[in-house]
Amino acid sequence: MITRRVSGDPLEYVLGWAEFRGLRIAVEPTVFVPRTRSGLLVEQAAVGLGPGAVAIDLCCGSGAIGAALAATVDDLELYATELDPAAVRCARRNLTGPRQTVLAGDLFDPLPDRLRGRVDVIVANLPYVPTEQIALMPREAREHEARIALDGGPDGLDLQRRAAAAAPGWLRPGGRILIETGRRQAPYTAEILARNGFRTMISTDDEIDGTAVIGIHPDVQRDTR
Ligand code: GLN
Repeated sequence: MITRRVSGDPLEYVLGWAEFRGLRIAVEPTVFVPRTRSGLLVEQAAVGLGPGAVAIDLCCGSGAIGAALAATVDDLELYATELDPAAVRCARRNLTGPRQTVLAGDLFDPLPDRLRGRVDVIVANLPYVPTEQIALMPREAREHEARIALDGGPDGLDLQRRAAAAAPGWLRPGGRILIETGRRQAPYTAEILARNGFRTMISTDDEIDGTAVIGIHPDVQRDTR
């Protein structure tokens, strides 16, 4: 294990798990390692959620954010979606509760239709690194994590635009989407949500270097175009 670590393998891959909000989250090589900063998403998402709430962890990776939210909210009904097969495997190891479902597929695609208009909260740590900035990331990220987990396109916001456009169809009136983003990207993330009809708020936590943009789905459903 020491030899692997010294040769550059990320500690979490050597161990096979990462610590996230007091949980051991299984991670295998190439799978995005949960970041402490994503705890902000968990904290903010949990606000006001009662027992039995319905949540989506979109592009869940290892499922860490969903697992931590489920550890915070009683009887959370959680649906986690993920495209990358290695990450799906890990998420299935991390989300084993009776009300936790991991679905393989792109963004909202694999979700059952019966959830439309019923979801209380969506947490989304989508890839948001601008393509050209991946080269500036720590070696553990740029050389060991799957590119699909990091690359957000030219401005980093491609996946956020796609998710924000589709999210209103899944949320209940007054439901929320919380998107992790970069500090400098936050106003743009907020604008993307606003353009899709959300009321928005930016939440930051300097201690853990976390930035989340929260979008609240309007209480009154707008006319469908
Ligand atoms: N800069 C972020 C991180 O390393 C990237 C995370 C992401 O793209 N979701 O935490």
